[in-house]
Amino acid sequence: MIELKGLRKQFGDQVVFDAIDLQLSRGEIIVVVGPSGTGKSTLLRCINFLERPDAGQLTVGDLQVDVTRATQAQILALRRRTAFVFQNYALFANKTALENIAEGMIVVDRLSKREAHARARKILERIGLADKADAYPASLSGGQQQRVGIGRAMAANAEVILFDEPTSALDPQWVEEVLGLMKQLAAEHQTMIVVTHEMQFARDVADRVVFMDEGRIIEQAPPATLFSQPRDERTQRFLKKIL
Ligand code: ADP
Ligand code: MG
Repeated sequence: MIELKGLRKQFGDQVVFDAIDLQLSRGEIIVVVGPSGTGKSTLLRCINFLERPDAGQLTVGDLQVDVTRATQAQILALRRRTAFVFQNYALFANKTALENIAEGMIVVDRLSKREAHARARKILERIGLADKADAYPASLSGGQQQRVGIGRAMAANAEVILFDEPTSALDPQWVEEVLGLMKQLAAEHQTMIVVTHEMQFARDVADRVVFMDEGRIIEQAPPATLFSQPRDERTQRFLKKIL
């Protein structure tokens, strides 16, 4: 249901990756790991067209896009099918938790404010923040802010949620509550691509772990297999450092 084919991205002369192939089926959860600077964030951002890929094909559900010829309508359609959770939450500082979650439903889905707010309240309940509806981001803990960030992604009703190191900006005491919410989504079979260094989360939740190095997918396997029997020497070296 999601397919990346020959995806390529370069910044100026620097080719970040030039032929990424990746497939996910509906409900699948994959964790992407790899050294810093390898192109993990750029890959997620290209799937969402936060960065425009230079070549390749992207398929999300029934939408297939040749990235070099993508029309504005296709880009918008692709964005609706792929929600993004940022490392730094990227909430609107001047909007409440409720408004942050409702915003996309009003602007993108064209729901009435009343309907969007009603749905946002339900999401606040699901993320355990019903009592914080009227709180502004600055008055929330990092963990609460990131749960709002995830709530906003849930509101988009996307085919896939892309998480870019969602816990790495958090103080350690907030990490578990955010991972817990992600586990809850995983249990509901939300399709997700998660870039993270939380290897226990990968073990518990991922159907597949993808190891990237220098813009290439080196190997991919279920966590139990990849962590205990990495085949490639680069994977072995990386895992030795991180496990
Ligand atoms: P990772 O997430 O694996 O740490 P990134 O995708 O952030 O890696 O970065 C991959 C490479 O692309 C790095 O060399 C980084 O400096 C470069 N890069 C990322 N974003 C930009 C950008 N907007 N402009 C120029 N270079 C970028
Ligand atoms: Mg990154």
